[in-house]
Amino acid sequence: VTTVALKDVTKVFKDGTLAVDSINLDVNDGEFMVLLGPSGCGKSTVLRMIAGLEDPTQGAVLLDGELANDLPPRDRKIAMVFQDFALYPHMTVGDNIAFPLRLAGVEPTPRGERVTDVASALGIGDVLARKPGQLSGGQRQRVAMGRAIIRRPGLFLMDEPLSNLDCGLRAELRAEISGLTRELGVTTVYVTHDQAEALTMADRVAIMRRGVLQDVGTPTQVYGR
Ligand code: ADP
Ligand code: ADP
Repeated sequence: VTTVALKDVTKVFKDGTLAVDSINLDVNDGEFMVLLGPSGCGKSTVLRMIAGLEDPTQGAVLLDGELANDLPPRDRKIAMVFQDFALYPHMTVGDNIAFPLRLAGVEPTPRGERVTDVASALGIGDVLARKPGQLSGGQRQRVAMGRAIIRRPGLFLMDEPLSNLDCGLRAELRAEISGLTRELGVTTVYVTHDQAEALTMADRVAIMRRGVLQDVGTPTQVYGR
């Protein structure tokens, strides 16, 4: 998958919460789109609907131009990184990164080569034998990214991936993430409540408030207005 289109997408949860209110958004091939807004405005819900983890109450989610509302998450060729990383604590870094390839039945030799390539691109080539508990927060984040991109997805979804890290590391990883996704040419939707993050990373920013999309444009367009 390389493009996303949301057409009048609405999400009302069972308890009556209107989390997303008739949103229209196009994400282009290779674009780095940042979904920006305060906590509770519906960003994660939008991301989860793109991933297929939540069903829209109304409207259409199109992936590569095709209606995807009923497509199960595993058939969407999408990778997702969450703020808690969700690494397997009992596995080494190398096995964590290799895990999606193992599930896909890739043989050990090409698997090892891909893991080495991805790990060195992320600057964690020297910690492959460690367990996640023996890593810094930044290294854990890199492992989570490595595991997400190892199958070369066309679409990369990130939900506040830096929010648990300290300030200096956040700035460093911002540059690293946007550099890496551009190098890979992977379309990215990145959720954050941090305006500085949005401004430094985004090709375009989509600003959300209370379930509604307020504005979409390049950082200059959105903040120049
Ligand atoms: P954000 O990612 O911007 O913090 P969310 O998408 O997580 O916002 O949540 C949007 C709104 O929907 C919030 O009011 C939240 O409490 C509510 N919400 C999220 N998930 C559920 C759920 N499973 N059931 C009911 N309400 C939910
Ligand atoms: P976020 O980091 O996006 O703000 P939250 O802390 O709002 O995440 O939500 C974490 C989890 O709890 C999500 O899976 C979300 O769907 C669920 N959730 C959030 N609000 C509610 C709610 N009011 N009722 C039930 N589940 C909720």
